[in-house]
Amino acid sequence: MITILSGGTGTPKLIQGIKNIHNPSDISVIVNTVENDYFSGVYVAADIDTVLYTFADMINDETWYGIKNDTFTTNQQLEELGSPELLRIGDIDRATKIQKTMLMETHTLTEAVDIQRKNMAIEAKILPMSDEPSKIAIKTDIGDLEFHDFLIKHRSLPKVYDISYSKVKPSPHIIETIENSEMIIIGPSNPITSIMPIINLEGVEKALKNAYVIAISPIIGTSPVSGPAGKFMNALGYEVSSYGVASMYKSFLDKFIIDNFDEKSKNKIEKLIKDVTITKTNMQNIQDKENLAKVVLDI
Ligand code: GDP
Repeated sequence: MITILSGGTGTPKLIQGIKNIHNPSDISVIVNTVENDYFSGVYVAADIDTVLYTFADMINDETWYGIKNDTFTTNQQLEELGSPELLRIGDIDRATKIQKTMLMETHTLTEAVDIQRKNMAIEAKILPMSDEPSKIAIKTDIGDLEFHDFLIKHRSLPKVYDISYSKVKPSPHIIETIENSEMIIIGPSNPITSIMPIINLEGVEKALKNAYVIAISPIIGTSPVSGPAGKFMNALGYEVSSYGVASMYKSFLDKFIIDNFDEKSKNKIEKLIKDVTITKTNMQNIQDKENLAKVVLDI
């Protein structure tokens, strides 16, 4: 079995490539949950839903949020009724979120997601990192902001001084899943808000130290491919580069994949991680995704 640690954009792109060349029934994905919250009366687990839709071939892979060709009738009507939505949730996407919210009245998040992935005929296991509620707090020059307020309302523009997230318990199966995997793949996701929250769960780093772990850098040159990862790394004192990512992952990483663009940093990074591979990591089409998946799986 292979296990992938994921957020909701960079890693799902890679999952599109991996699932085409590796049997999905042999894949587990541990997904970040620290950004989850209730919006417009429904529980929104955006990264989990993105991973579900990626395996079900329903994902809107232009925005990496919601479902391809979705409609927004309910969203428009809510706005007209005077309930503006911070997150613009599509009609079909909302059905997934309503069902998850209903399931969670009597089930844990892990159980609810397992029911949904089976209903979508997904063979891969999709495991929320935790079943407990959590929050990300971002200290900025305009005050303390919650994650989605920072990201959507303020379009990631404020200057960031610090980021913290709630300490939560790991969900029931993730440690044994890591222990039973031949390979752990840390996808090119935001290291601060998507990956480190998983690594910092009790027992995960220790399990990773005993596993074969490979990571793909989400940073090319001195900036992320998309999103606020650079701002967050900078705020926590990390160099915004693949070297900075390597310095976060060095205690448990066996192999690190960086982009061709960063060839000149290879020697410097090899001081932290012995096995560094250079390839194209910027995934612009399905061929790029499958090629990177082949490098990761060493095919
Ligand atoms: P979020 O949950 O939506 O924040 O998404 P993730 O954490 O999964 O992904 C965001 C990260 O993915 C950003 O840091 C991007 O730099 C990275 N990313 C997005 N697309 C690519 C890509 O094609 N290649 C690489 N190497 N990184 C990518």
